[in-house]
Amino acid sequence: MKATVELVSTGAELLSGRTLNTHTQTLARYLAELGLELSRETSAPDDRIAIRDAVRDALARASVVIVTGGLGPTSDDVTRDAVAEVVGAEIVLHTATREAIRQRYERTNRIWSEKVSRHALVLSSADVLENRAGLAPGEAIQWQGRRLFLLPGPPNEFEAVLQDHVMPRLKAVADVLPLQRVFQVAGLGESDIVRLLPEEEFPGPDVSVAYCASPGLVEIRLSALPSAAAVHARAVALVRERLGEWVFAEQRVDLETVVVEALRAAGKTVALAESCTGGLLGHRLTNVPGSSEVFLGGIVAYANASKIRDLGVPADLLEREGAVSPEVALAMAKGVRARFGSDIGVGVTGIAGPSGGTPQKPVGLVYLSVADEAGAKVEELRMGGPRATIKQTTSQRALDMVRRRVAAVH
Ligand code: AMP
Ligand code: MG
Repeated sequence: MKATVELVSTGAELLSGRTLNTHTQTLARYLAELGLELSRETSAPDDRIAIRDAVRDALARASVVIVTGGLGPTSDDVTRDAVAEVVGAEIVLHTATREAIRQRYERTNRIWSEKVSRHALVLSSADVLENRAGLAPGEAIQWQGRRLFLLPGPPNEFEAVLQDHVMPRLKAVADVLPLQRVFQVAGLGESDIVRLLPEEEFPGPDVSVAYCASPGLVEIRLSALPSAAAVHARAVALVRERLGEWVFAEQRVDLETVVVEALRAAGKTVALAESCTGGLLGHRLTNVPGSSEVFLGGIVAYANASKIRDLGVPADLLEREGAVSPEVALAMAKGVRARFGSDIGVGVTGIAGPSGGTPQKPVGLVYLSVADEAGAKVEELRMGGPRATIKQTTSQRALDMVRRRVAAVH
């Protein structure tokens, strides 16, 4: 029988609007790799009775229950007490974990107190799951044919324990691992994709197609049972044929990571002249480890005076064409390339809104330019949406232009 999986998230902050529950998304994405879906998610405040009841209810329905948060040392961390009551376990001190935490405190010059060792309290019936990202370990418990996992709340710790310990255990119980292929598509909206790749051309119902769109990005996931391998392969080939140049990766990876890797492989460097993205492009590139090999630097030239002084954009060009124009984007790309001595220069100028638009140059109008020794290219984007979306979509398009330039796809 196929496993049913439920998540119980704990923490008052999740119910008060202070913190977005990101565990649901993280967990669901990992489960998809095993062909499993979350059947329900419950959020409970930091209250022992509420958590106890939520866990008890989840265990009555699901074969796998994952409980997160509330494993820390403070008085509102009551998850383990609540779960101990449900499964009838004692709470014991896990001495190996306590010792590891104490050593970590010594190494980092923090003041040790016995309070800290509360992190090492676990259920007597649990397998302790080491947490490489933090102090509180995870726990795996088998109870009346169910699998129960307790995972730490901080998102990076949650993901670390999920990846290292929960996934291998669930893999062992997943009945058939589905075939999966993920395509990351930049620069096309869902409607473009449906036009290029009409649903009726997909080879039959044995392949399921799922789309997930975010600004400047669509993820397409093709899944099928192993018995439908041939049909799955045909669907994969169809996506490659229709969307080839738009697909920047066939795995779950960021565009900035792909761009840094492509630049590194080609031995090329890049410099950025950013106006309306305000440094977002530089931020994204520097999020990638090793980007210092390929990213020389950037200038956030927001005011016209900065475009003139810091990038050498001619004042009369700005006067004549306006700051948001293809000519200025081009001059920014060329200017930053010359100043930094990079192989590639990128120029971005646009109107992020909500004010500042005119009928000729509305909010959401952006010009992007990429220049290298072979020449330069300018693209125009027209977008809707709030400032943050316009900035994100613009940065996505600019990164994709660099990717295409390096790969010589135009
Ligand atoms: P806790 O383990 O409950 O002490 O939580 C530690 C930190 O992780 C807190 O800053 C929480 O806001 C955060 N956190 C806990 N659960 C979640 C969740 N489901 N989504 C995002 N952040 C969370
Ligand atoms: Mg908490």
